[in-house]
Amino acid sequence: MALHKVDYSKQNGLPIVLTTVDKLIQWGRSNSLWAVSYGLACCAIEMMAAGGGRFDFDRFGVIFRASAKQSEVMIIAGTLTKKHAEFTRRLYDAMPEPKWVISMGSCANTGGMFNTYSTVQGCDRIIPVDIYLPGCAPRPETLQYALMILQKKIRRQTPRRKQPPKRLV
Ligand code: SF4
Repeated sequence: MALHKVDYSKQNGLPIVLTTVDKLIQWGRSNSLWAVSYGLACCAIEMMAAGGGRFDFDRFGVIFRASAKQSEVMIIAGTLTKKHAEFTRRLYDAMPEPKWVISMGSCANTGGMFNTYSTVQGCDRIIPVDIYLPGCAPRPETLQYALMILQKKIRRQTPRRKQPPKRLV
């Protein structure tokens, strides 16, 4: 049988990675973010483009799901009306913990140009938001960048300790 001897002192040290279980769990979590397909208005077209072949969100581990119960990220893409707000909250509550929310576009952030009786003036009035994405409409690259920021944020969190409650406006 052939005997292979490797001199690690000459090959950049031992092939060992040291980390903690917490970091490993959060790293895995950040690279398998399933997002609930939830488009509300024109921003949703950009979100759909982000899932297509050109931008290819799958390589970040972001897969769009049709069920809130299988998702951990909600991307609010578009204008949120008061009539629909109750359903948004219900879907958010159906998502398992831990969960994160990205508010995509001016309409979702602040109501945008629709300062009317029927529009929610910011989705953070009904669900806690982690990342705000400015623009009308933000391009898929912007959403991609927001997801990378969210991944960084998740890697900084710890899976064991209780997360502080998220603030609503
Ligand atoms: S921010 Fe602009 S593109 Fe997005 S939903 Fe509002 S009007 Fe449409």
